Amino acid sequence: MTSTTAPLVEQFRFGLAAPICLTWELTYACNLSCVHCLSSSGRRDPGELSTAECKRVIDELERMQVFYVNIGGGEPTVRPDFWELVDYATAHHVGVKFSTNGLRITTEVAAKLAGSDYIDVQISLDGATAEVNDAVRGRGSFNMAMRAMQNLAAAGFAGFKISVVMTRHNVSQLDAFKAIADSFGAQLRITRLRPSGRGADVWDELHPTAGQQRELYDWLVAHGENVLTGDSFFHLAGYGQELPGLNMCGAGRVVCLIDPVGDVYACPFAIHDAFLAGNVRGQGGFAEVWRNSELFADLRRPQSGGACTSCSAFDACQGGCMAAKFFTGLPLDGPDPECVRGFGEAALAAANAGAAPRPAGDHSHRVGPRPGQPSRARQPVPVSIGSRPGHPPVSAGLVAAPASMAAAGPGADRRSVPDRACDQSPLAGFTPSAGLDPPTALTQQAGR
Ligand code: SF4
Ligand code: SF4
Repeated sequence: MTSTTAPLVEQFRFGLAAPICLTWELTYACNLSCVHCLSSSGRRDPGELSTAECKRVIDELERMQVFYVNIGGGEPTVRPDFWELVDYATAHHVGVKFSTNGLRITTEVAAKLAGSDYIDVQISLDGATAEVNDAVRGRGSFNMAMRAMQNLAAAGFAGFKISVVMTRHNVSQLDAFKAIADSFGAQLRITRLRPSGRGADVWDELHPTAGQQRELYDWLVAHGENVLTGDSFFHLAGYGQELPGLNMCGAGRVVCLIDPVGDVYACPFAIHDAFLAGNVRGQGGFAEVWRNSELFADLRRPQSGGACTSCSAFDACQGGCMAAKFFTGLPLDGPDPECVRGFGEAALAAANAGAAPRPAGDHSHRVGPRPGQPSRARQPVPVSIGSRPGHPPVSAGLVAAPASMAAAGPGADRRSVPDRACDQSPLAGFTPSAGLDPPTALTQQAGR
């Protein structure tokens, strides 16, 4: 890392005036029912943000100079206004990366997407074979995802992402995932299974074993250079070597989530009242929540590493993931449940599993409460999976490049567009000397 980037990384620890890893879940509606869904998606929520409200949020993001937004769900493409919102965002200088199970990536859509420099696509795939994938994501989901990838590749969309949640059943398929990505000219992205949403119900049986964590680390050391990992595996740095990616927990500092009803959480994997900072419908909108919420102010203060500070691996591992600790019932200043030194396993054995906090909200298709949970008053809401009547092609509104993208030059293609910061490194996406000032550190702004 260069001397010019180090101060920026330090700024991240105290929060920025705008998030650089903003995830926005547009809807809880989903055609699938993946067993580990972090937002327990399935049914649309009647309180989801309207088209006009979403556009107001996008206007705010533009004013805040949010460089990229990572759109997910649910399956975001089932929102009838999905493409309208994508066009609106890109026309207002907010690049879009959206995650999809592939449902709507037809040949026509793939062709339109391939024509845009400011949209990136991430296809979810949790097994390199139908057998492994469909056990987690549902029957037929492997073929649906592969068809979407074939359509993207055939349309000439180079560099789209294949996103894999690592489980006990697919760690052995890492080479096969990479081969699939290479065959499509795509890029592999692997992420950690967190005990969030429905993932809390299956984490015990699906999270990689200690031996597999080591296997994963060794694979990343050997092959990880062109593999995106976000902030998923910094806890594995405790094995000895820092891995590429965002090596810190950015919750509330550089990372946050806007959920379908406009609630703002510290991180996409921390959907619980304890990490709820506010709602975009409130006075001052998203900017007010991001800049002035008490929760985010707390998260931006220096954190105690607790027992982990006495560990020789602490500088690299930093005690691991806040959300993973929280939803397994471990103290936030203690070791990660997948601590490479085995302290997490010991802590889990001593913890009362039944007392672990439950993720907020459940929009699963299933009727009735989760075991041990009170019944929910909300009824299923029908999902409209319609076409886009009278809507212009996806690329129609893609006329204005974000300042930092434009700085890459008029001939820059998609591959030259910096990736989402939390996918690659804390500085990916920043071109501070080329026209887009990095968001000001909140601490500087407040004179602290
Ligand atoms: S809580 Fe975990 S998933 Fe969320 S930002 Fe921190 S490290 Fe990442
Ligand atoms: S004890 Fe804490 S700092 Fe040490 S490896 Fe485990 S989680 Fe990381």
